[in-house]
Amino acid sequence: MRYLIAANWKMNKTVAESIDYIEIFKDLVKEVEGVEIMIAPSFTALSSVSILLEKTNISLGAQNMFYVERGAYTGEISPIMLTELNVKYVILGHSERRHIFGEKDELINKKVLTAVEFGLRPILCVGETLEERELGKTMNVVERQIRAGIAGLEREISLIDIAYEPVWAIGTGVNATVEQAQEVHHFIRNLINDISKGNDKDTRILYGGSVNEKNASELIKAPDVEGFLVGTASLDPQKFYKIILSSL
Ligand code: 13P
Repeated sequence: MRYLIAANWKMNKTVAESIDYIEIFKDLVKEVEGVEIMIAPSFTALSSVSILLEKTNISLGAQNMFYVERGAYTGEISPIMLTELNVKYVILGHSERRHIFGEKDELINKKVLTAVEFGLRPILCVGETLEERELGKTMNVVERQIRAGIAGLEREISLIDIAYEPVWAIGTGVNATVEQAQEVHHFIRNLINDISKGNDKDTRILYGGSVNEKNASELIKAPDVEGFLVGTASLDPQKFYKIILSSL
């Protein structure tokens, strides 16, 4: 399994800023082998970034998607609009989508099913809030989000990657410890192995939440951490490059 090191730029970078970044970054990583690199820019920058990523070792991702091919859904983005731009990955169920925009497991599941139908690879994000962790509900929350999110794809779980992103670690500077991450990742691995009846070997379990160039080398040592989904630190090409180097 090749680990996946993914950048989620969230609502950052104009088209011009995205182009500047990619020009620098693609040179930095051009010799990198052994891990897969992905960048998910804003929707408005997807088209320009897509052209720049042709014939590079960097895959393109989107940060969200709607579950219908076309129609009267003002403001939404369809799977064919993504595949047309050579988008390979789509981040679904991110905690900001769940908590700021009210996305529920059922909606996320529709998006996951549609993404797979159109040949996109979903990165399904799961994770508990601080309150849920303190109440000892971490595993219950993660299990519910995974079972609901992949419903209908139990035997095809290999078509999906999962990102464990504890909400309390996102954008806070407080990352999960290696032990905390490993505990949940191990739980997820066992869960998806069970749900898929052993068909989970191509599913990577990424960690996300305040990953940076200093903590990445420790976190990647956890046996069930198979890549990262990086927010803030991915906005700087040098920092993101260092995270990639730490993961080799
Ligand atoms: P930060 O790396 O800024 O904590 O964000 C993590 C994240 O949400 C990636 O999807």
